[in-house]
Amino acid sequence: MKFKFWGVRGSIPTPGPQTVKYGGNTTCIEVRTARNDLLILDAGTGIFALAQSLPERVPVTAHILLTHTHWDHIQGLPFFLPIFDVGNCIHIYGADDDISGLGIERAISVQLQHSYFPINEAQLRADVHYHRLQNGESIEIGGARITPLALNHPVVNLGYRIDDSDGSSLFFTGDYEPVVNRFSRDDSEFAAAQAGILQTQQEIVKVIGHVDSLIVDASYTDLEYQHKANWGHGTYEGGVALAQLTHAKKLYFTHHEPGRRDDELEAIYQRMLGLTPPDLPIFLAQEGGGYIAAEAREQDALRDLAQRRA
Ligand SMILES: [Zn+2]
Ligand SMILES: [Zn+2]
Repeated sequence: MKFKFWGVRGSIPTPGPQTVKYGGNTTCIEVRTARNDLLILDAGTGIFALAQSLPERVPVTAHILLTHTHWDHIQGLPFFLPIFDVGNCIHIYGADDDISGLGIERAISVQLQHSYFPINEAQLRADVHYHRLQNGESIEIGGARITPLALNHPVVNLGYRIDDSDGSSLFFTGDYEPVVNRFSRDDSEFAAAQAGILQTQQEIVKVIGHVDSLIVDASYTDLEYQHKANWGHGTYEGGVALAQLTHAKKLYFTHHEPGRRDDELEAIYQRMLGLTPPDLPIFLAQEGGGYIAAEAREQDALRDLAQRRA
């Protein structure tokens, strides 16, 4: 299995000279299984460039797995151009809305309302199929098994584990804020909250355990998080902790803060190299960056990593 980042930015697109290296598009990851099935994790603005990279005049079958329906994860959906052409087959997967109980087909019908978009749903000429997913219930796509895992966020957010037929595996959190115990140790509610956290961690380990590539929401530093608790996002330090808890083999930080410049991202990365165990390769998700799930990006990157740690 291979994967490539087409959008790595959180919340809002951020084009411009300060973000040109890591990229300004919002979340979108192309996954190619060993059988070359096309899986797409989230449909942020990065999906537009992904669509343009597909060969012309070849029918497209795409499986778009939405972690959740916040704007930055679906904004590119009406601009996924194969959706307008006869002969293409687009499958869209996601959780039911937690308030209305409606399925993921709602995402498109809301986006294509007359006030927001010039083209209506009836003009999508591809064969579009919607699939409602349940937490923990695996599905098969081609030779791959996909397991959704609900992770803490203000709306239902499904992280996805992909186990491919070649034995490689990947997990993407989508937007995820790890739950922390907000009670002090002498508070009567501390123990119950702690037990709940441990149970959640066990469920997380069961799904994510020993994954080859772990891609996490790392919006904030620990310091920034102090002012952004309950906003629904994780930290670099939390990403490393999740990788260690689940024995992930490689870790990718994504959902970069929209205000973060390339040089600031790299300064954080340097600091994280010093805080991460040497046997856990870490990477900043970069638009255009392609990877093989079960291998480090390239030997050069690993050597570079070792030298920086020496
Ligand atoms: Zn987001
Ligand atoms: Zn979100």
